[in-house]
Amino acid sequence: MAKIKRQIVKIDEEKCTGCGNCVAPCAEGAIEIVNGKAKVIKEELCDGAGFCIGTCPTGALSLETREAEPFSEEAVKEQQAKRDVHFEVQKCFNCSRTEMDAPLLPCRKEGESLWVCTRCLPALIHG
Ligand code: SF4
Ligand SMILES: [Zn+2]
Repeated sequence: MAKIKRQIVKIDEEKCTGCGNCVAPCAEGAIEIVNGKAKVIKEELCDGAGFCIGTCPTGALSLETREAEPFSEEAVKEQQAKRDVHFEVQKCFNCSRTEMDAPLLPCRKEGESLWVCTRCLPALIHG
Protein backbone atom coordinates (compact mmCIF):
# COMPACT_ATOMS: atom_id res chain seq x y z
CA MET A 1 0.00 0.00 0.00
CA ALA A 2 1.17 3.52 -0.74
CA LYS A 3 2.12 5.53 2.29
CA ILE A 4 -0.03 8.48 3.27
CA LYS A 5 0.51 11.35 5.65
CA ARG A 6 -1.44 10.63 8.82
CA GLN A 7 -1.42 10.56 12.62
CA ILE A 8 0.38 7.63 14.22
CA VAL A 9 1.81 6.75 17.63
CA LYS A 10 5.40 7.70 18.33
CA ILE A 11 7.44 5.89 20.99
CA ASP A 12 10.37 7.63 22.66
CA GLU A 13 12.79 4.76 23.34
CA GLU A 14 14.82 6.87 25.77
CA LYS A 15 11.77 7.22 28.02
CA CYS A 16 10.30 3.72 27.50
CA THR A 17 11.05 1.31 30.34
CA GLY A 18 9.37 -1.64 28.64
CA CYS A 19 6.79 -1.93 31.42
CA GLY A 20 4.16 -3.15 28.94
CA ASN A 21 1.27 -0.99 30.27
CA CYS A 22 0.50 0.19 26.75
CA VAL A 23 0.23 -3.28 25.17
CA ALA A 24 -3.20 -4.52 26.30
CA PRO A 25 -5.07 -1.17 26.03
CA CYS A 26 -4.42 -1.13 22.28
CA ALA A 27 -7.45 -3.00 20.93
CA GLU A 28 -5.72 -3.34 17.57
CA GLY A 29 -2.73 -5.12 19.08
CA ALA A 30 -0.38 -2.63 17.42
CA ILE A 31 2.14 -2.47 20.27
CA GLU A 32 4.43 -5.20 21.50
CA ILE A 33 7.54 -5.18 23.67
CA VAL A 34 10.56 -5.97 21.53
CA ASN A 35 13.98 -6.17 23.23
CA GLY A 36 12.64 -4.37 26.27
CA LYS A 37 11.07 -1.46 24.36
CA ALA A 38 7.53 -0.81 23.14
CA LYS A 39 7.21 -0.96 19.35
CA VAL A 40 4.41 -0.38 16.86
CA ILE A 41 4.87 -3.77 15.22
CA LYS A 42 3.06 -2.77 12.00
CA GLU A 43 2.02 0.70 10.91
CA GLU A 44 -1.22 -0.72 9.46
CA LEU A 45 -2.32 -1.71 12.98
CA CYS A 46 -2.05 1.76 14.53
CA ASP A 47 -5.12 3.91 13.89
CA GLY A 48 -3.54 6.90 15.64
CA ALA A 49 -6.43 7.22 18.10
CA GLY A 50 -3.94 7.47 20.97
CA PHE A 51 -5.70 5.32 23.57
CA CYS A 52 -2.31 4.05 24.65
CA ILE A 53 -0.94 7.49 25.49
CA GLY A 54 -2.54 7.87 28.92
CA THR A 55 -1.38 4.41 29.96
CA CYS A 56 2.33 5.24 29.80
CA PRO A 57 3.79 6.17 33.20
CA THR A 58 6.88 7.80 31.70
CA GLY A 59 5.36 9.91 28.92
CA ALA A 60 7.10 7.88 26.23
CA LEU A 61 4.04 7.83 23.97
CA SER A 62 2.80 10.66 21.79
CA LEU A 63 1.18 11.16 18.40
CA GLU A 64 2.95 12.47 15.34
CA THR A 65 1.89 13.15 11.77
CA ARG A 66 4.13 11.49 9.21
CA GLU A 67 4.21 9.28 6.12
CA ALA A 68 2.98 5.82 7.13
CA GLU A 69 1.14 2.80 5.80
CA PRO A 70 -2.62 3.43 5.95
CA PHE A 71 -4.56 1.89 8.85
CA SER A 72 -6.01 -1.48 7.79
CA GLU A 73 -9.03 -3.24 9.33
CA GLU A 74 -7.87 -6.41 7.57
CA ALA A 75 -4.47 -6.32 9.25
CA VAL A 76 -6.21 -5.69 12.59
CA LYS A 77 -8.44 -8.75 12.14
CA GLU A 78 -5.43 -10.94 11.42
CA GLN A 79 -3.58 -9.59 14.42
CA GLN A 80 -6.56 -10.00 16.76
CA ALA A 81 -7.07 -13.57 15.62
CA LYS A 82 -3.41 -14.20 16.46
CA ARG A 83 -3.42 -12.85 19.98
CA ASP A 84 -7.03 -12.72 21.09
CA VAL A 85 -6.64 -9.14 22.36
CA HIS A 86 -10.38 -8.68 22.51
CA PHE A 87 -10.53 -10.94 25.49
CA GLU A 88 -7.46 -9.73 27.28
CA VAL A 89 -9.30 -8.58 30.34
CA GLN A 90 -9.39 -4.90 31.18
CA LYS A 91 -11.24 -4.14 34.39
CA CYS A 92 -12.96 -1.10 35.89
CA PHE A 93 -10.82 -0.03 38.85
CA ASN A 94 -13.95 0.68 40.87
CA CYS A 95 -16.20 -2.36 40.37
CA SER A 96 -14.04 -4.80 38.34
CA ARG A 97 -16.56 -5.01 35.49
CA THR A 98 -14.83 -5.94 32.25
CA GLU A 99 -15.37 -4.46 28.80
CA MET A 100 -17.77 -7.34 28.17
CA ASP A 101 -20.08 -5.98 30.90
CA ALA A 102 -19.90 -2.25 30.23
CA PRO A 103 -17.90 0.12 28.03
CA LEU A 104 -14.62 1.11 29.68
CA LEU A 105 -13.03 4.54 29.49
CA PRO A 106 -9.43 5.45 30.27
CA CYS A 107 -8.95 7.75 33.24
CA ARG A 108 -6.18 9.10 35.46
CA LYS A 109 -6.34 8.82 39.24
CA GLU A 110 -3.63 9.72 41.74
CA GLY A 111 -0.92 9.32 39.13
CA GLU A 112 -2.18 6.00 37.82
CA SER A 113 -3.69 5.20 34.41
CA LEU A 114 -6.84 3.20 35.01
CA TRP A 115 -10.04 2.09 33.33
CA VAL A 116 -13.47 3.08 34.58
CA CYS A 117 -16.77 1.62 33.40
CA THR A 118 -19.72 3.74 32.30
CA ARG A 119 -21.79 2.40 35.24
CA CYS A 120 -19.35 3.82 37.78
CA LEU A 121 -18.69 7.06 35.93
CA PRO A 122 -21.80 9.02 36.99
CA ALA A 123 -21.10 8.35 40.67
CA LEU A 124 -17.50 9.50 40.24
CA ILE A 125 -18.57 12.67 38.45
CA HIS A 126 -21.26 13.55 41.00
CA GLY A 127 -19.22 12.45 44.01
S1 SF4 B 1 3.64 2.16 28.79
FE1 SF4 B 1 5.31 3.58 28.20
S2 SF4 B 1 7.13 2.86 29.37
FE2 SF4 B 1 5.60 1.19 29.41
S3 SF4 B 1 6.13 -0.11 27.61
FE3 SF4 B 1 4.57 1.36 26.89
S4 SF4 B 1 5.77 3.08 26.05
FE4 SF4 B 1 7.19 1.87 27.32
ZN1 LIG C 1 -17.22 0.18 37.29
